[in-house]
Parts: sequence; C-alpha cells; structure tokens
Amino acid sequence: MQYLNNYIDGNYADPIADDWLDLYNPSNGDVYGKLAKSKKEDVENAYKAAAVAFPSWSNTSIDERSRILLKVAELIEKNLDRLAEAESMDNGKPLSLAKAVDIPRASSNFRFFGNAITQFASEAHESVGMNTMNFTLRQPIGVVGCISPWNLPLYLFTWKVAPAIAAGNCVVAKPSEVTPLTAFLLGEILTEAGLPKGVLNIVQGVGPETGQAIVEHPNIKAISFTGGTKTGEHLARTAAPMFKKLSLELGGKNPNLIFADCNYDKLIDTTVRSSFANQGQICLCGSRIFVERSLYSKFKSDFVAKVSALKIGDPSKADTNIGALVSKEHLEKVQSYIALAETEGDTILCGGKRITVEGLENGYYLEPTIIEVTSNSCKLNQEEIFGPVVTIMPFDTEDEVIAMANDVKYGLSSTLWTSNVNRTMRVSKKLEAGIVWVNTWLNRDLRTPFGGVKQSGVGREGGFEALKFFTEAKNVCISY
Ligand code: NAD
Repeated sequence: MQYLNNYIDGNYADPIADDWLDLYNPSNGDVYGKLAKSKKEDVENAYKAAAVAFPSWSNTSIDERSRILLKVAELIEKNLDRLAEAESMDNGKPLSLAKAVDIPRASSNFRFFGNAITQFASEAHESVGMNTMNFTLRQPIGVVGCISPWNLPLYLFTWKVAPAIAAGNCVVAKPSEVTPLTAFLLGEILTEAGLPKGVLNIVQGVGPETGQAIVEHPNIKAISFTGGTKTGEHLARTAAPMFKKLSLELGGKNPNLIFADCNYDKLIDTTVRSSFANQGQICLCGSRIFVERSLYSKFKSDFVAKVSALKIGDPSKADTNIGALVSKEHLEKVQSYIALAETEGDTILCGGKRITVEGLENGYYLEPTIIEVTSNSCKLNQEEIFGPVVTIMPFDTEDEVIAMANDVKYGLSSTLWTSNVNRTMRVSKKLEAGIVWVNTWLNRDLRTPFGGVKQSGVGREGGFEALKFFTEAKNVCISY
C-alpha cells in the first residue's frame, strides 16, 4: 500500500493527525494507496516554510530562478514514462494520452515560465512636460495558494505553480484528492532540481478541509483555483472579505458551431477528439454540437459511426481510445444525465451504457454517448456533465446558432467550423467565451490569455497574464 504524504520545506512528511483517505484506481476499482488528510495545522506548517523561504527566493536572480525551472522541466521529461503511468493509473486516462499530452505539457509549463520570466519587464511612463518619470515595479506577492482539479492533474497543477514561483512567490499548493499521485511525485523532482526548501510546498487532503484552510489562511495573499463553478463560488465568498487576489478557472458547456462550408474531414476527426478526449473530462471539450441543417444528416451518421468505433478499455493498452472515468461517484453523476435523455424526450444515437471490461470488471467504463436534442434549453445542454456525453442538434441561420451558443451560464471556450473569413470574424466577435477556436481545437500557444467569462471564471492565466496575476504592480512616481 502506497502512502502519499505532504512535501513541506523540501521534505516528505506525514500529516500531523494520523488520518488517511483511500485512493482508487479507476481502471479496476481497487484501492491503490492512502492519501494524507491534512488539517489546518499542516497547512500552517507549509505556510511557515513558505514564509521563511520567501525573502531569499524573491531576491534570487531571474537567471537562477529560470535555471531551476528549466531543470524541473528537463527532469519531468526524463521521468516521462513513470509519471505518465502514474497519471493513467490514478485518473483512468489512456496511457497514450498521458504520454502525449499530460506529462509533456507539465514539462512545457515549467519550461515556458522559466523562459517567460526572463522577458517580463517593468513599464516606464515619462510624463512629458511635467518633469515626472513613472515606472512600474512588479513585485512578487508573498505566499500564494494554488488549488487544482482531477481531470488534467499534473498539467493543471504545474500550470499554476510554475508561474507563481517564476515570479518570485512561495507557494502552498494542493492537488485534487481524487488524483494526487503525480503532484506527490513532483516533490522528488523539485528536490533533485535544486529548488530551495519551502519555495513550493505540496499539501495533500480534501477540499473542504485542506483546501479551505489554504483559502482561509490570513497570510496566504492570493489564490489561483481551477475546479467546479460551485466550489469557485464558495471560494470567492470566503476570500473576498479578506481582499485576496483571486483567479478562478471554472466549469464550461462549450458549443461547437459547424457550418456546411467547413473542411469536413478535418471537422469530423477533430470533433470526435473534442467530444471524447480524456473521456470528455476536459473543461474545453465541446459538449453542445450545432450543425447547419444542410450538413446535419451526413454529419450525424458519420459522427455516430466514428464514435461507435472507438475502443473503450484498459487505459494501459496502446489501442485504447477511451479509458475509465475518474471515480465511481463521477460515473454515477454522468449516468444520471444520460437517464435524463429519456425523461426529456431526447434520442440516444449511440452509447449510453456502462461497460464491463474483461479482467477489470470493477472499473468505471462508460460508452461514449451522443444524444440528439430538440432544444438548447434542456438540462443536457445547460448543465456541465463533464463526461463522455455530447448533444447534437441542427440550426438554420448564423444568428440562431450564435444565440444558442451564448444561451448558457458558462463561457469558457467555443469552436467554430467554417471556411468563410467574413463569418469567422463576425461570429468570433459575438461568441461569449474566453477562447474561440476556428477550424481547430485544443490548439494552445502558452503565450495566449486563458480563461472564461460568465460563470466559467474570473481572470486570465497564461503568458504574461499569469505573471501579472502573481505579482503586485507598484507605481513609482519621481519628480525631477
Ligand atoms: P472541484 O471544484 O470539486 O475541486 C477542485 C479543487 O478544489 C480540488 O483540489 C478540491 O479538493 C478543491 N476544493 C474543493 N472544495 C474546496 C474548498 N471548500 N476550499 C478550497 N478548495 C476546495 O472540481 P473537480 O471536480 O476537481 O474538477 C472538475 C471541474 O473543474 C469541472 O467543473 C471543470 O470544468 C473544471 N475545470 C475547469 C478548468 C478551466 O480551466 N476553466 C480546467 C479543468 C477543470
């Protein structure tokens, strides 16, 4: 039995209370380990280590910080196989996906911010005619908190902690209790890379206890959070009266707008991916598919055929397209939405059933599911399911599809398929979303701003946006 404890002040340490949570392998339903259920006191210890490390780390030269971040990136790459296997086992995602996407991206996050910090400069404003010079000092905030979800565990954990430490902060970070393994393993890599003790502390535990203690801590001055909208709302309520800086990356219900003039072959293959990659458990997956009526019946039959051919099964096998859902609770939640299709009078075009995989009978496998709906106002189109379930419906006009795309409380990403440049410009401007992908999906340049509008979040990550979030801007105004 593996025990996953905390990484505080550069050392692995058991939690103060002898309290542990069972960890499940979603591919077979077995308990594979125990997770530290850290209390307020553990968070306090992590905070103290971070506070002690801060004066030195915030004054460490940019070159040195950059060198250490690049070293972490290199070591993640060196440990690719081990980390990918751990991620796949912990999350249920295909090993091939963890190897091609999750772990390389975790490495890229450190490499990107290790380089970006060397290009992050102060602005100066000469107030001409007033004998005044202004410059902006961008100073690290101090000790900050980073809290991440289970769907892309190391990918999203490092997306937060890398810019935080690059900017000179010290961090108390908590990965999801559902998938804590790769963040736990990261501790070894941080030590090997020579990151000074206390700069990045990884505290394990459940959200309402450990996460809550981080958010409530009076001296943790900023919180970068990725997770569900309900949790984000609760976090905001806790942190706002303390005037903490907050970055919230929340849920989505992303539309795909497919026009008949698109590149069809590219569209169909990409849409299979954007619907079902990572079992549909990516906040950026397109879960509402709107197709121009003249293309609708062709798209429907080709899409159903391609999705029905996807191979569901053992995440560790090379030919598996769809692995296990992350947990029994999540599987049941997704199934409850599929059951709604019947009561709402919708049509399940394919999938919908739990699958038993030979030798892995207790794993959480679900067929990728396409549901034809008649209205965008149904629950299946309005609520985030976050699993291998998409809806499809036809539309007639550009205005109609824009209205449906925007008629939802979320606004994270959207995908537009057309080869008409004028339409691209018109529709992109009108979509209420933080990202509009045109003729592509999950195409990420890490310099671009990342985040959502409406109930998909507040603030932007990525590039200099993240470095701005993790620094305080101070105006120095000099009269001469
Ligand atoms: P979640 O909100 O349940 O948990 C996210 C993290 O918050 C976990 O580490 C959890 O332990 C912690 N947490 C829970 N309660 C807390 C509390 N009271 N105080 C502090 N921390 C607390 O989300 P999840 O189920 O892990 O992830 C799925 C959700 O994340 C989906 O809604 C998905 O859309 C969203 N998501 C958004 C993005 C994005 O970039 N916008 C990316 C990935 C996932």
